[in-house]
Amino acid sequence: MTTLDDLPLRDDLRGKSPYGAPQLDVAVRLNTNENSYPVPDAVVEAIGKAVQAELRDLNRYPDRDAVALRTDLAGYLGHGLTAAHVWAANGSNEVQQQLLQAFAGPGRTALGFGPAYSMHPLLAAGTGTRWIGARRGPDFGLTAADAVAQIEEHQPDLVFLCSPNNPTGTALDPSVLDAVLAATAGMVVVDEAYAEFARPGTPSALGLLAGHPRLVVTRTMSKAFGFAGGRLGYLAAHPAVVDAVQLVRLPYHLSALTQAAARAALAERDALLATVDAIKEQRDRIVGSLRARGTEVADSDANFVLFATAADQSAVWQAFLDRGVLIRDVGVPGWLRVTAGDPAETSAFLTAAEEILP
Ligand SMILES: *Cc1c(COP(=O)(O)O)cnc(C)c1O
Repeated sequence: MTTLDDLPLRDDLRGKSPYGAPQLDVAVRLNTNENSYPVPDAVVEAIGKAVQAELRDLNRYPDRDAVALRTDLAGYLGHGLTAAHVWAANGSNEVQQQLLQAFAGPGRTALGFGPAYSMHPLLAAGTGTRWIGARRGPDFGLTAADAVAQIEEHQPDLVFLCSPNNPTGTALDPSVLDAVLAATAGMVVVDEAYAEFARPGTPSALGLLAGHPRLVVTRTMSKAFGFAGGRLGYLAAHPAVVDAVQLVRLPYHLSALTQAAARAALAERDALLATVDAIKEQRDRIVGSLRARGTEVADSDANFVLFATAADQSAVWQAFLDRGVLIRDVGVPGWLRVTAGDPAETSAFLTAAEEILP
């Protein structure tokens, strides 16, 4: 039997595991921060029409530069951004992979502050970029001084920040981003996958783009828009950054169907984003309920909550699964992450928590 070990695999990929949040068929799935609400009927109809209109022309390649979609995305972001500042791909994961291909890669380094999004080091590995695992503070916070000291030590070619941070949920203090931009000569990528869920008054890094050509903000339609299955992520940056990623993107990477579906979804954004407030309410309910019973919880600006388990988190994760509630072990000892779903899912989680947590 041939296994991976028998193949002439790249040495730097040997022994690595693929990204693998379990996709289990259980009643309550709160493990990958999806939006629990299905796409509303009116939006299903609009997307269906838009996709239908493309079908006869599928003999032709799609618009390679997705200009109409990028124009719509820029309009959604505001901040005076235009299509020239925006780039789109099949999920923000692909956008970040393209950024690593363009600005990092073999002989170069990327740095991130863990615990953070587990895909950042995996994307670095896939692009032959050496990963530098910098750390957040013991309370999962990150101060400007701490961030700058670690960047000065390693001088990375690309820095990942994640705000609100996955898995801790907390948004970045803007002074940290200012300090990081001043401390590095490399690219600074702020992953804002959860920006739409931030508490009022939380600033986006979009506001800093004008003066900072090495700053890139990545966003996604996978979370707040409830469009994870549609695969659409994007970035906003100086137009020169868009020129750079076009050097490495596959031609026609974004299918005509994806472009049409994403444009239709964006046009219906009021209906899609209507779930955001309901989800934030459930997030705050989880935080409040867990704290009221004495469970330690990290502040959350996202659609998920990181909470302390007291005991070995993998056993606690299994105990939730045994009660039909799938949550996420993000590999942070003594902590687990739960997605804020609909009210019934939240109730199922909190009922299980009452039985399981001390
Ligand atoms: C979910 C998530 C994404 C989304 O990735 P897509 O490829 O756009 O689905 C990006 N960054 C973080 C931190 C996430 O948690």
